[in-house]
Amino acid sequence: MGGLCGVVSKVDCTLDLFFGTDYHSHLGTHRGGMAVLQKNGTFHRSIHNIQNAPFRSKFENDLAKFEGNSGIGVISDTDPQPLVMCSHLGTFALVTVGLIENIEEIKKELFDRNAAQLQYSTTSGMVGPTEVVSALIATQSSFVEGVKYVQEKVRGSCTILLLDEHGHLYAARDKYGRTPIIIGKKDGSMIALQESCAMPNLGYKYVRDLGPGEMVELSAEGDVTTLIEPGEEMAICSFLWVYYGYPASSYEGRNVEMARYRCGGALAKRDNVKIDAACGIPDSGTSHALGYAHEAGVKFARPFVKYTPTWARSFMPQDQRQREHVASMKLIPIPGLIQNKKLVFCDDSIVRGTQLGKQAARLYESGCLETHMRIACPPLVFPCRFINFSRSKNEYDLITRRYIRGHEGENVDLSKYTNADGEEYKKMVEFIREKLNLTSLQFQRLEDLVKAIGLDETKLCTYCWTGRDVSLKGERKGCAACKNCPCAGK
Ligand code: SF4
Repeated sequence: MGGLCGVVSKVDCTLDLFFGTDYHSHLGTHRGGMAVLQKNGTFHRSIHNIQNAPFRSKFENDLAKFEGNSGIGVISDTDPQPLVMCSHLGTFALVTVGLIENIEEIKKELFDRNAAQLQYSTTSGMVGPTEVVSALIATQSSFVEGVKYVQEKVRGSCTILLLDEHGHLYAARDKYGRTPIIIGKKDGSMIALQESCAMPNLGYKYVRDLGPGEMVELSAEGDVTTLIEPGEEMAICSFLWVYYGYPASSYEGRNVEMARYRCGGALAKRDNVKIDAACGIPDSGTSHALGYAHEAGVKFARPFVKYTPTWARSFMPQDQRQREHVASMKLIPIPGLIQNKKLVFCDDSIVRGTQLGKQAARLYESGCLETHMRIACPPLVFPCRFINFSRSKNEYDLITRRYIRGHEGENVDLSKYTNADGEEYKKMVEFIREKLNLTSLQFQRLEDLVKAIGLDETKLCTYCWTGRDVSLKGERKGCAACKNCPCAGK
């Protein structure tokens, strides 16, 4: 995923930028960076590897070297950022969040026009997406035309902050608004960021969310000038509320923690299991479980606690084996809350199922009588194509898709596995329950998830669960890109 933050101010912006960016640390594990425009018109930039240490500790020693009234920062799960680029538009700093599904196609187009040379990373063996975005912008006559061109060319998503050499701060939300940009204001400063929870402690008041595809310029005087009008179609990622958004944040006016309570409540409303307590798999499962417990009128308990002093972050390393190892190190069981108990556990989602299976085994080892798992979203059937969502990169990472392949083979109609009332769906859920050795398993129904978030379904991306998306309307049935997609051609 990744997160970004930009500040323009009448005074030095460094501390607001530093803490504002730090509040996005749960969104990425790869690189953190900041670029500030200095009084002499040059950029000061620093990028650190944050795979083994948090952003804040990596940047504390750098802070004294930053001074300037405008800057941008990023927590990146992809390439090292911010980039500082020289072009016919002048020098500018750039950060991006998103996923460019057609990056090879765009690179070829740039090379065919003799319009760019792109730096090859000897670490990843790839060209960074932010560099491709900067090259696209620089093919046009202005930053505004450049951002429009990016929105036209990129398949996937791309949210951008751009700071030019004159201190103009531009924020451009992805064409379909998959990831948010929120604007805040205090006396003499404005901020643009993804996680609104960064604002209160830095003294900013909420101004508004940018619309899908909207581009604005922010001024230290408090003006927000729209340069590209918002589009009519929005598909903001529903997983922000289910899993990776920070509980204290709100997007489109819908708070994450409250949406998770409602998710848990909705699960409880459809349940009649007799239990001793409702519990959550930390972190996001805890909020879902509180909602469940309140609605069901049962006790809330924490039979697993998370060791936070050194495992504070919710995201994991990209490497699967390391990730599984870290996940088992983080959670510590409390046998007294487990032994001879019948428990409901709430979790945000099931991807591979490996972790959940291990946690269930640990519960039985500690004497749990019954483990009822309740999942805050429907079964994940389609890996994300729109943001760099590390939970489901490959279709056969998903336990559902492995079941379907084993059951029916490849290239099958997947829509029957997304219908919660259908027989094929029920068989798939029963397979997962048995595989993970759970007493019972229920997933959230899509309509309940949508209601818990509180936005109209037409404004949400639900592709993970439905295979339907506004951006796929033009794709023809059977084309390579949307193979197996039930919405193809509609
Ligand atoms: S496919 Fe899933 S993870 Fe990706 S943007 Fe849509 S809802 Fe979010």
